[in-house]
Amino acid sequence: MKAWDVIIIGAGAAGLMCAIEAGKRGRRVLVLDHGKRIGRKILMSGGGRCNFTNYFVEPGAYLCGNPHFVKSALARYTQWDFIALVEKHRIAYHEKTLGQLFCDDSAQDIVDMLVKECADAGVSISLRAEILAVAELGEGFSVDTEAGQYSCHSLVVATGGLSMPKIGASPFGYRLAEQFGLKLLPTRAGLVPFTLQPQDKETLESLAGVSLPVVAESADGTRFTESLLFTHRGVSGPAVLQISSYWQPGEPVRFQLLPEGCLAQGLAESPSQELKTWLARQLPKRLVETLLAREGLVNKPLKQYIPKELAAIEQRLAAWPLQPGGTEGYRTAEVTLGGVDTKELSSKTMMANRVPNLYFIGEVMDVTGWLGGYNFQWAWSSGWCAGQVV
Ligand SMILES: Cc1cc2nc3c(=O)[nH]c(=O)nc-3n(C[C@H](O)[C@H](O)[C@H](O)COP(=O)(O)OP(=O)(O)OC[C@H]3O[C@@H](n4cnc5c(N)ncnc54)[C@H](O)[C@@H]3O)c2cc1C
Repeated sequence: MKAWDVIIIGAGAAGLMCAIEAGKRGRRVLVLDHGKRIGRKILMSGGGRCNFTNYFVEPGAYLCGNPHFVKSALARYTQWDFIALVEKHRIAYHEKTLGQLFCDDSAQDIVDMLVKECADAGVSISLRAEILAVAELGEGFSVDTEAGQYSCHSLVVATGGLSMPKIGASPFGYRLAEQFGLKLLPTRAGLVPFTLQPQDKETLESLAGVSLPVVAESADGTRFTESLLFTHRGVSGPAVLQISSYWQPGEPVRFQLLPEGCLAQGLAESPSQELKTWLARQLPKRLVETLLAREGLVNKPLKQYIPKELAAIEQRLAAWPLQPGGTEGYRTAEVTLGGVDTKELSSKTMMANRVPNLYFIGEVMDVTGWLGGYNFQWAWSSGWCAGQVV
C-alpha cells in the first residue's frame, strides 16, 4: 500500500487548488480522478473561456444553509489572490459584464496554469482512477482504486456536484459523506433553464431566440437584472439561470418586462399611438404580438384606455408572471444546490468536525454561488483553505 500525506479525490477546480497549496507546504499529495482529463468543467466553462472569478465577490452572492459559513474562506483567499495568480502566469483576461472575468483566449489557459502549479509543487495526478472503497485507517484513511491501494493522513473530497453527468459528475462525495455519518442537505439543479407548462409552451414556443433585458423576481423577493432568453424548450438566459437557484417547484417567477410608470409616460408623450406600436418601441416585436394575444389585450390608441385599464396593463408587464413547469435538470445545470451540510464542517479548514483529517471542498458542499465566476471563486477559496492544513 503506497503511503501519501494527502489524497484528494477530484481533479477539478477545488481539488487542484488544494493540491497546489498542500504541495507547496511539502506535503506528498496524490490527486485521483475517474475522468480522462484534468479540469473538464473548467474547460467547458464560460463558453470555453472560463469565467474564473468576479470583481464583486461577497458572501451575499452565495446560497448556503448557513450564510455566514462562506465568509472566512472568501476573506482569506480572495478574487484578488486568484487574479494575481492568473497575472503571474501572464494569462490575458477581460471583464465581460457585472465584474465577470474571462480568459481572452481559452479556458485551457486556466487548466494549464493549475497543472503547472501542481507540477512545481510536486503534486502527483492519477487519471482514470476508479475508487472502489475508502475506509478509516488509524489516524488516516485507506483508498482502494482499480489501480492499487493507497493510504493517506488527510483525505480531501473534491468531487463536485451532480450537474453534467456526461462529463464525470457523480454522487461519490455525497455517498462518502454518508458513509462517515455526515448530514446532507437535499440536492437540486441550480443555474438551470426552466421548462414550461404545456399551455405556456404552446403560446411561447414561437418566441425561441427572442432575448430582452428584464428584472427576474422569485417568490422570496430575490431579484436579478439580466437578460431573458426564450428557447424551444422554455426560458433561459442569465436572468433565468440566476433566479432558478431561488425557485421552488410550484412557485411563479415574475419578470419585469417594462419599468413601472413608463406606460403613463407613453400616454403623456404619444397619446394617439396604439398600444401595440408603442409596446413594439420598447420590446421585441415578436414578444409584443404574443403578449397581446396571451394577455387578451385589446389594441387601441393609448388615449382611449381608461386610466384603470392602462394601470392594469402596466402592472401586468411590470411583474409578468410565469409558472415554470420545472427545470432542465442536471443535464444542463451549471451547479448543484445542497450537498454536505456546512454545519458538519469547519469554515476555516473545511475539515469534518466529527471525522478528523476528512475534508470536503468546492461544490460537493452546500455552497452555491451566483452565475458570474462566483462558483469557481468558492472552489479556489475553499480549496486554498484546506490546502493550508491538510
Ligand atoms: C457548463 C458549465 C459551465 C460553468 N461555467 C462556470 C463559469 O464560467 N464560472 C464559474 O464560476 N462556474 C462555472 N460553472 C460551475 C463550476 O464549473 C463548478 O462550480 C466548479 O467546477 C466546482 O468545482 P469543484 O472542484 O468542486 O468540482 P468539479 O470542477 O466538478 O470537479 C470535480 C472532479 O471530481 C471528479 N469526480 C467526480 N466523481 C468522482 C469519482 N467518483 N471518482 C473520482 N473522481 C470523481 C470529476 O471527474 C471532476 O474532475 C460551470 C459549470 C458548468 C457545468
